[in-house]
Amino acid sequence: MTVIKHIGGKDSDHPERDAWTALKRGWRQKCPACGKCAMYWRYLKVNDACPACGEELHHQRADDAPPYFTMFITGHVVVGGILAMEQSFAPPTWVHLIIWLPILVVMSLWLLPRIKGALIAYQWANRMHGFGTLEVEGADIPPAEPRPAGSA
Ligand SMILES: [Zn+2]
Repeated sequence: MTVIKHIGGKDSDHPERDAWTALKRGWRQKCPACGKCAMYWRYLKVNDACPACGEELHHQRADDAPPYFTMFITGHVVVGGILAMEQSFAPPTWVHLIIWLPILVVMSLWLLPRIKGALIAYQWANRMHGFGTLEVEGADIPPAEPRPAGSA
């Protein structure tokens, strides 16, 4: 069985990456390594590698975490706002729709690439998934000698 483990952090040749700097770069949708070039080539399409520094970004596994956090935040703001407004003014439903639907859409579209960028940067800073150096355990062990004939 092949065991693969990720190498990173203080106890390896690989320098620690500052997570806070990376998070800020990711939030600005920039490369977490250099902060110079855009992380995306389209709205949410991550560059395979940074055009400026060449850092590979295709290892990212943001998956459905960005929409999860985006919905979590926008849901709390919008539902809280609707409840507070209903308590205070009790406006008709169409007033709620006119106010809250655009806020919901704009806030979601604004947050999603920033949250995704920050999550990818977090993965990069912690050398998660393919962002770390992979070491195959047992790769340095020479292959076993073939058994002599007749031995059990
Ligand atoms: Zn870069």
